[in-house]
Amino acid sequence: MAADWRIGIGYDIHAVVPDRVLMLGGIEVPADFGLSGHTDGDIVLHAVIDAMLGAAGLPDIGEHFPDDDPAHKGRRSSELLEEALREVNDLGWRISNLDLTIRAEKPKLAEYKNRLRQSLAGLLSLDPERIGVKAKTNEGFDAVGEGRAIACEAALILKRGVE
Ligand code: MG
Repeated sequence: MAADWRIGIGYDIHAVVPDRVLMLGGIEVPADFGLSGHTDGDIVLHAVIDAMLGAAGLPDIGEHFPDDDPAHKGRRSSELLEEALREVNDLGWRISNLDLTIRAEKPKLAEYKNRLRQSLAGLLSLDPERIGVKAKTNEGFDAVGEGRAIACEAALILKRGVE
């Protein structure tokens, strides 16, 4: 099969809530709050899942794991990622690279970027050199800038076949 390449994008935003662990990219980030959500609220993994599913032309995360389905309540997002990755791999797709931007006013994520990259590399069985992680504030603008939410954008390329 000739090589085939597909690009995918994903986005997610969740509200900041007290009394939850802040999960980003599969790691616990120290903070006095977490993110809302039916699962563990890991917006980074949710954005990655959607980018991957989108690139493969599959239904989005909401269709795969409906948030009104009690079966998914409290699940770890890393499990959802594993399932989505398996489905994409079963179609012959491999991730070529992943790039993402996390927008959070706090906590400051700069010191966690490398751990996050390593975590994603492990979850996706991907060379860390193929993963880009950027962390920004939202310069005070909108709900993210006011510290009421954290958001993430992800883009990736899937490859199938050989050149
Ligand atoms: Mg989500």
